[in-house]
Amino acid sequence: MITERLYYDDAYLTEFEGEVIEIRSNGWAALNRSAFYPTSGGQPFDTGTWTIGGRDLCVTDVEVEDGVVWHKLDGPVSVGEKVHGKIDWDRRFDHMQQHAGDHMLAGAVWQMFGGVTIGLHLGKEDSTIDMTLPDGRTHLTPDEIAALEDTVNRRVQQDDPIRCWFPAPEELETLPARKKPTVKEHVRMVAMGDYEMVPCGGTHPSTTGQIGPVKILSCTPSRGNMRLCFVAGMRAVRLLRQAYQCAGDMAAAVSADFDGAPEALKREREAALTQRKDLKDRLTLAALEMLKAGKEGDLYAAHLLFADHDTLLKAASELTKEPQAIVLLSCPKGEGRMLVFARGKDAAPDMAQLLRAAGARGGGKPDMAQGSTPDGEAMKKAIELLK
Ligand SMILES: [Zn+2]
Repeated sequence: MITERLYYDDAYLTEFEGEVIEIRSNGWAALNRSAFYPTSGGQPFDTGTWTIGGRDLCVTDVEVEDGVVWHKLDGPVSVGEKVHGKIDWDRRFDHMQQHAGDHMLAGAVWQMFGGVTIGLHLGKEDSTIDMTLPDGRTHLTPDEIAALEDTVNRRVQQDDPIRCWFPAPEELETLPARKKPTVKEHVRMVAMGDYEMVPCGGTHPSTTGQIGPVKILSCTPSRGNMRLCFVAGMRAVRLLRQAYQCAGDMAAAVSADFDGAPEALKREREAALTQRKDLKDRLTLAALEMLKAGKEGDLYAAHLLFADHDTLLKAASELTKEPQAIVLLSCPKGEGRMLVFARGKDAAPDMAQLLRAAGARGGGKPDMAQGSTPDGEAMKKAIELLK
């Protein structure tokens, strides 16, 4: 016995009566008739409840196998029990909007650019369609994406009828479908306005207007094909709300209006980068001045409280231009200190060896080593070792 799939005739049916015809030990049960949509054709399953004699069970997954619709339940049932089923309509209608949005995009890309759909995925956040384009193209231009989005949303706003039916084999052969059916019998067709017709077993709204806004989020190459990412319906409304809020917050943060925000943000970033570079240059100058003032013979050594790692490297690189110079520097790093030991090209001591001999963690080359130490002892010890 196969399951009568009630959603084929009426995608708006949310409650129904059925009977358990088969059970499996792992919590799955089949009905003689069901409005629950099983995962198939890129559209995820419905969730909802079964009520059996006043007892409610949750349906957490739905699959189809050889024409039998199986429901995963959170409690036991028996063959022959009468079931009142109820699907989660918000989830289903969201899926209908995304799924029908996918049809609209796929049909329009086929007509406008000759793209052929090879796969689709309806995700929790957004959905994707993988397509092959003629001449090996792997993306559309921004102008083409805008034209595609306009076409699809215009068709949505026309509120054209969406029709699903099982044509007789003779009729099937004459239909101008975007894709040919893989089987000859029991083929279910869906037609939207006069611009989209394909075999499909999914659930669709009765008119295109119910799909709501369709927004393309990205168009990227994917394994030699093109991947369109999109949202439709309430997802598009929520995304617009979120994006508008985010753009408004960003504009306010840089004291600009919407249109001026990107330019203002760019200016602020450039100013901040210039300021940071300027500060780093001044820190290096201050470090050099201090080190030169405290120079003993060829040794420059100091713990620079105000410096960071970058300042130490810059100061060391400047001072080791003197061939005999030995430069031992440290700065704060977390609870401990960061060390940079360097020497000029004619100075003798091996800096990596010195760093380790002083008890610091780290390493490097004979002319330049870096490491860290929990306190000032390593620095003191290195100076003593040199003397
Ligand atoms: Zn469909």
